[in-house]
Amino acid sequence: MVFKSPFASVPVSTETFHEKLLRAIWHHGTAHPTKPALVAADDATKYVTFHEMYTQVHSVRAFLRVRGFKSGDVACLVLSNCIEWPIFQLGAQAAGGAISGASALFTDFELERQFLDSRCSVVFTDEPHLKKVMHAAANCDKVKTIICLRNGTSHSAHLPGHIIEWSEVVSFRPEYDVAKVNVESMAVLPYSSGTTGSPKGVMLSHRNFGTMIEIVKDHFDRELVPHMGSNNHNWYNESFLLNLPFYHIFGFGMMSTALLIGVTGVVIDKFEPKLFLSVIEKYRPRLLFTVPPILIFLAKHPMVADFDVSSIEFVLSGAAPAGKDICEEFLSRHKTIRYLTQGYGMTECGMASHLPDLNVKDVHIGVGKVAANFEQKIIDVGTGKEVANGERGELCVRCATVMMGYLNRPEATAETVDKEGWLHTGDIAYMEDDGRTFIVDRLKELIKVKGLQVPPAELEDLLLSHPLVRDAAVIGLPDKRRGELVRAYVVRANETLSEDDVIKFVAHKVSEYKHITGGVKFVTEVPKSAAGKILRRQLREEAAKENKSK
Ligand code: AMP
Repeated sequence: MVFKSPFASVPVSTETFHEKLLRAIWHHGTAHPTKPALVAADDATKYVTFHEMYTQVHSVRAFLRVRGFKSGDVACLVLSNCIEWPIFQLGAQAAGGAISGASALFTDFELERQFLDSRCSVVFTDEPHLKKVMHAAANCDKVKTIICLRNGTSHSAHLPGHIIEWSEVVSFRPEYDVAKVNVESMAVLPYSSGTTGSPKGVMLSHRNFGTMIEIVKDHFDRELVPHMGSNNHNWYNESFLLNLPFYHIFGFGMMSTALLIGVTGVVIDKFEPKLFLSVIEKYRPRLLFTVPPILIFLAKHPMVADFDVSSIEFVLSGAAPAGKDICEEFLSRHKTIRYLTQGYGMTECGMASHLPDLNVKDVHIGVGKVAANFEQKIIDVGTGKEVANGERGELCVRCATVMMGYLNRPEATAETVDKEGWLHTGDIAYMEDDGRTFIVDRLKELIKVKGLQVPPAELEDLLLSHPLVRDAAVIGLPDKRRGELVRAYVVRANETLSEDDVIKFVAHKVSEYKHITGGVKFVTEVPKSAAGKILRRQLREEAAKENKSK
């Protein structure tokens, strides 16, 4: 049965995403001229007010227009979370283009791939990441402009001549040259492997993401605020911790929501336990958006006891499964938490397709209900027919927020979003009669480490590029702390190739969270189906037995 969201629908967005946010930012700035929109967690003197943000966005827009950046162009952001991130993002969108966030942890090898695939012409970065950005951009003809943020205290004397400093951009006087942007055009291009293969650009239009943040805002206002214990709740009195990476759709969505509703966002550039806890103690947020590894940290780490984290009342965990045991351990340690909840989503659906219903018992179990404007169905993996409530099958969702498609990959798009507009998530779920949904397994090959995507196909391609590797398969092994460990099965050309060689080869090329942490097994062949597909389930089952026999 197709199940429609029990939450009231919101209008599908008819304005561009940046116009929506800029209108809100202007409004907050007018209402509260000195209120910081974003403040750096480690340095309270580093902040930007809503008004400053508005002006700076237009400087970026005008600067990019003068440099020839136009509709259809892409700007890539290679930055840890910082207060300038949305200024670059909104400036590039207001200039008519789309933005593509990349992890600041990426190696030059990974960056080059994203630059080439997205065909970006502008890159925003900062001094610590400049060298690898320049290295990656050297092979990408399309990259014409690199804009670099400098840290006032620790910068080297001169940047290479063709690199543009942020100070030059921010002081640019905006001319009245507004780009005409269609609401159907691409606004955001995050990368995701989807159900299979290597990372692909997920094209989200202004309409897709504009509607998504309206859904989230409406959910907060309608479903959350009534539980916040005040008759005249005012978001201006709240702050959000923005520690989830902005390049990932969850972190990006929460940062965008903060700007839309007018809370102050406290920006954390990387998870550092002491800083994280001291920031909670200082800014006293009531809501926490998080991922399972941080829940585990808050549930178990002794250092947590040294800080006052009692301001937190509502927790929303997403991006990966949070087990029942860890949720209960977390709740028994933090008695001030009123609601520990989970949401669920996927880059391809625009962020979140499932949000919590606070009126149900044991709200921490399961991923809530299908969000406003969404429909869902659960289908039998073999027949494609819908299953009865309570039975397991593949979760499919449909909404105006679902991606336009994968960039330049029509076949992969058609495999993921069917002709009727259903996004096949590759996750196994079941639904109760009241709509509560539970994710129980992953049909797709994706591995998630600390909530971040590790596409096995990407690592398999990399391993196959090694001269002594004949064949390779990569799977995830369950791990309490990291979510999953990465295990490689390798058919080697000769025995001189050691486990250590393989681990180092991968570590040299890709970011830390994609490293082989679950060991290397040398095998004589990789099990494959008649059609040549790697039989990952078989490998996972064998690995599970191995663990039991230990
Ligand atoms: P991403 O596109 O990086 O957000 O990854 C989406 C995938 O993360 C989903 O298809 C799921 O496999 C997984 N995921 C996200 N949220 C949850 C959750 N609450 N429980 C279980 N898996 C989740």
